[in-house]
Amino acid sequence: MKKFDVVIVGAGTAGILLARELGKLKKKTLVLDRKKNLLEFSFNTLGSFINLEKFELSKDVVAQDVKTICFHSKNVTRKLKTDLYVLDKKKVHKEIISSVDENYVTFLTGVNIKNINKDDNCNFLSVVDKNKNEYLGTIFVDASGTNGIISKKVGLIAKKTELATGVEYNVAYKGNKTDLHLLMGKEYQGGYGWIFPLKNKRAIIGFGSFDDEIVKDLKNRLHKILEFPKIKKLVEKDNDLVEGGSIPITPVLDKFVINNLVCVGDCVSQVNPIVGEGYKFIFEAAIMASKAINKALEEDNITCLTEYEKDWKNRFLLNYQRSKRAQNRFVKYSQNNLLMDYTLFISKFIRDERCVRSLSGEYGLENEV
Ligand SMILES: Cc1cc2nc3c(=O)[nH]c(=O)nc-3n(C[C@H](O)[C@H](O)[C@H](O)COP(=O)(O)OP(=O)(O)OC[C@H]3O[C@@H](n4cnc5c(N)ncnc54)[C@H](O)[C@@H]3O)c2cc1C
Repeated sequence: MKKFDVVIVGAGTAGILLARELGKLKKKTLVLDRKKNLLEFSFNTLGSFINLEKFELSKDVVAQDVKTICFHSKNVTRKLKTDLYVLDKKKVHKEIISSVDENYVTFLTGVNIKNINKDDNCNFLSVVDKNKNEYLGTIFVDASGTNGIISKKVGLIAKKTELATGVEYNVAYKGNKTDLHLLMGKEYQGGYGWIFPLKNKRAIIGFGSFDDEIVKDLKNRLHKILEFPKIKKLVEKDNDLVEGGSIPITPVLDKFVINNLVCVGDCVSQVNPIVGEGYKFIFEAAIMASKAINKALEEDNITCLTEYEKDWKNRFLLNYQRSKRAQNRFVKYSQNNLLMDYTLFISKFIRDERCVRSLSGEYGLENEV
């Protein structure tokens, strides 16, 4: 049976970027995904403050440039000038997958991993799929998203993870094409809504919540939101195709490595807590992981894998902890329309750049709150 340098479980956001980086480093890598078609998703657009060049992505993946974020509470609108993107998720994944070096990286689809085997010293030897096929590697990566098929087994994340769930419609859009809207207040029931502009007078409207009771009835709640006068001025539902999914909302984690196992992405809750932006942060984590994996293989020393954790903590830990606190405050304020109106009103006196830093989860080096 062939043994790979690295076996990655999951060919989503984290898995494909990590595979591309490992291919560049000439590491024999096997990527396994339970999906048959890697470009089939439960939702298709992303809002992101990403720097495309940093991750070697072209402008072709952009569905729409955004110049203004409009925050709407019940009675107040706060406009924030900034640059960000609405990305076409399919194009992002297609571009990354097509840039992977096939001489080093093999993708196997339709493989549903169920288990991981280890030896007496707790080093991992192989992953096993539901048909009992075994895949051998020197280093293993869990990149299986909220499923966390390995991270949950080894206890890096709780078996029953708290999730925030969102639903979306692709709708007709009457607003300004470079405006992205964030909708907040009591009507959004502890969560928030979003309108992402697309080309050709279309937009995505979505609503997400952390509350289990509300999540059961998300679609109907989105229907109610679509009837609000403020929203009716902006969008009109003209089809029934619902998209959506879930992200983890655990406390901030910082342990991602056990022996020769590395975890990247939603399987260890690496989505930034403040607005649930995952791509930019998970891409960066994947690059950090690739460097540590490369060093561990070159030096034949798995303790080098913990350098990934150290790099992540240095780069992200404080920012994530602040984003988590901001998320908790936001959930509290959003129960009360007056408080939300007041918060948005006061934010008009705060510089745009500072608001953008908080919103993007990048607080910088100064100790601003
Ligand atoms: C509704 C919604 C809206 C979002 N909006 C944004 C946004 O606007 N901007 C943004 O940056 N982020 C957004 N996110 C977050 C972002 O999508 C995630 O954080 C990110 O995709 C997680 O990447 P991942 O690689 O960890 O998981 P995924 O991309 O989910 O990949 C996991 C992969 O593992 C595979 N897999 C799972 N289990 C197994 C198994 N047992 N065996 C084999 N394969 C397996 C899956 O098929 C999948 O391909 C949103 C998320 C949701 C749900």
